[in-house]
Amino acid sequence: MPELLTIAAALAHVLERVRPLGGEAVVLAEAAGRVLAEPARARTDLPPFPSSAMDGYALRSVDTPGTLPVVFRIAAGRPTPGRLEAGEAMAIATGGAVPDGADAVVPIEAVAEHDNSVEVPSAVPCGENIRPRAGDACAGDEVVPAGTRLGPAQIGALAAAGVVEVVCGGRPRVAVLTTGTELREPGAELRPGEIYESNGAMLAAALLSAGAAVERLALVEDDPEAHRAALSKGLAADVLVTSGGVSVGPHDLVRRVERELGVEEVFWGVAMRPGKPLSFGVRDGTLVFGLPGNPVSSLVGFELFVRPAVSALQGAAEPGPRFEHGVLGAPVRRTPARDELARARSEGGEDATVLSLVTGQESHMIVRAAAADALVLVPRGDGELAAGSSVRYLRLL
Ligand code: AMP
Ligand code: MG
Repeated sequence: MPELLTIAAALAHVLERVRPLGGEAVVLAEAAGRVLAEPARARTDLPPFPSSAMDGYALRSVDTPGTLPVVFRIAAGRPTPGRLEAGEAMAIATGGAVPDGADAVVPIEAVAEHDNSVEVPSAVPCGENIRPRAGDACAGDEVVPAGTRLGPAQIGALAAAGVVEVVCGGRPRVAVLTTGTELREPGAELRPGEIYESNGAMLAAALLSAGAAVERLALVEDDPEAHRAALSKGLAADVLVTSGGVSVGPHDLVRRVERELGVEEVFWGVAMRPGKPLSFGVRDGTLVFGLPGNPVSSLVGFELFVRPAVSALQGAAEPGPRFEHGVLGAPVRRTPARDELARARSEGGEDATVLSLVTGQESHMIVRAAAADALVLVPRGDGELAAGSSVRYLRLL
């Protein structure tokens, strides 16, 4: 038996075979969650003019302290047509355009106004409470670099910079096929020996969150002809993800039928737990993932390999998986020869995230896994990792 691939080696095989999809124009309102394929640049200086950071009075620093006539009242969006002359003040709202001639704004709380005069009791430093033009970005500056997945802050920045449309990496079309004669759609009556099919819904949800366009194929029994028909359909997508049927049993048909359909297998078997018998191959441009059927194995295989591939297809600069650092809340037994992805709950500790394994770590226990928000990487080895040991973990969405 050949030695199993490490997680890192398997991931490298996958990412090596990703060819990012072409870019497409997307209006900003629909760009959340998409990956930018070309850098987006500011259409204007930001702020576009010197603006007030406070409700207060615009004035000249050299005129303070002193009592100054209030010659105009500037609202946001309503600048003064004139300039501020020596010895004058203008009331100004937050976001109001600081008039030419003024070099500071004193907050309303620091002064007293009576009879259209403002009494400024102490010196106001030059530049105080003025947001300079282009202090955030200059017109033409890169607002968001290519390869970034657009979240709320990036969308906000692009809108502020006057961007209405961006070029995003194409959405990968991902076909999902679940296999197993024992499976029934939720809602149906279970007959003896049957269970509800849950990986299809789970993988579809995971793929949506990864930015894919999901095509769910009807589930198939462990029958070669049914496999052939469904897999042929699925191979038309950018990515085909199957669940089940990749182990060594006589009813595990996925790899065999894929081979008959021209899929070139790149690897089968990763030194990890759960999810060891995971397979990966390619046919033409299609990436083909065979996830083991146990629901937690499918989930783990998805997070380690499929999500990064789907991100990379969209052109993500950092496709992941992105491990973070934490410490164990309690000792954890290690597995010889296999790295384990243990389901855990994370809690913000005093100086590190503390990870506590959920009870029920078997690969069929999806309900137990649903209580977790992290996958802790427990490196292979003997004995146990002590409480307080540093570990890496993957956040579950
Ligand atoms: P397999 O990988 O096909 O050998 O399946 C391993 C285990 O996962 C078996 O107990 C299956 O019944 C279960 N299983 C396979 N596919 C699914 C699925 N789509 N939803 C829920 N359980 C599944
Ligand atoms: Mg099966």
